[in-house]
Amino acid sequence: MYPAQFDYVAPTSLDEAIKLLAESGGDAKILAGGHSLLPAMKLRLAQPAKIIDLRKVPGLNEIKVDANGTTIGSMVTHADVARSPEIQRALPSLAEAAAQVGDLQVRNRGTLGGSLAHADPAGDPPAPFLALDGSIIVKGPNGERTIVGTEFFIDILTTALAEDEIVTGVSFPTLAPGTGTAYVKFEHPASHYALTGVAAAVKLDGSGNVETVKVGVTGVGPKPYRATGVEEALVGKGVAAIADAAAHAADGIDCNDDIHASAEYRAHLAVVFTRRALQAAFDRAR
Ligand SMILES: Cc1cc2nc3c(=O)[nH]c(=O)nc-3n(C[C@H](O)[C@H](O)[C@H](O)COP(=O)(O)OP(=O)(O)OC[C@H]3O[C@@H](n4cnc5c(N)ncnc54)[C@H](O)[C@@H]3O)c2cc1C
Repeated sequence: MYPAQFDYVAPTSLDEAIKLLAESGGDAKILAGGHSLLPAMKLRLAQPAKIIDLRKVPGLNEIKVDANGTTIGSMVTHADVARSPEIQRALPSLAEAAAQVGDLQVRNRGTLGGSLAHADPAGDPPAPFLALDGSIIVKGPNGERTIVGTEFFIDILTTALAEDEIVTGVSFPTLAPGTGTAYVKFEHPASHYALTGVAAAVKLDGSGNVETVKVGVTGVGPKPYRATGVEEALVGKGVAAIADAAAHAADGIDCNDDIHASAEYRAHLAVVFTRRALQAAFDRAR
């Protein structure tokens, strides 16, 4: 399949990219790793008149970890997220999820910013992004703003990003000492996309009960979500409460139903993989 005709530009500064995007009047698309955009163009699901390639824009490939938290440039690839010792230390479940994206070629080209901006309901990074309290940093003609993770995903392939904004980075607060995190998934055997992926972050109190817990779920509904029913059921409780709490993993979710898995099966997977993610996070917290 060939895409429809388009113009290609590769700006060398962020300001130039923002200007080009604003001038396009909604008819241009940002190109990051191209591993979701190009297949969509070849299938003619997307037919942008112009492609704005971010590859030559400086400053979008950096990983910064300091006392305030972690900031990851939008063009950092899944492979670099997975193998970064800083991210492995600061945000273990994000590195764990990145290592499970597609295959090596996909991970070498696909980017964290592209994955979140694309908002594929079966993408891996959104789950740890939500469980680790991530925020998206975006820049447009009106300047920079930060969108908290829980307000970023709106619907299938739809986010709170405005048409003239570019994702420049993703930021995370520092994890409280002793927090255990994990990401587990049930993957599609061919593409490796998550039929269900669950990330958990658990902080225990001195008696081994849950002080705080965050659970991010992907693959189950039209958009990634925080499983707040699970979180509420687990706060103040110990490891024995995991199974009962995990039973709430798909509460209130209109589960996806397609040739890969029925809605009922996905709801079941959500419960099973939430249990596994919580158990792993508990073990690491202890
Ligand atoms: C065979 C195959 C298997 C895959 N398996 C998995 C998997 O198992 N798990 C998984 O999570 N993903 C998987 N992917 C998707 C992969 O992770 C993509 O790389 C990712 O979803 C999109 O990132 P990208 O950098 O390639 O974005 P692109 O394809 O370049 O862009 C995707 C969309 O986001 C927009 N965009 C990109 N960057 C920005 C930005 N900085 N600001 C604003 N908008 C932006 C683009 O305009 C476009 O609409 C797979 C892809 C392929 C081809």
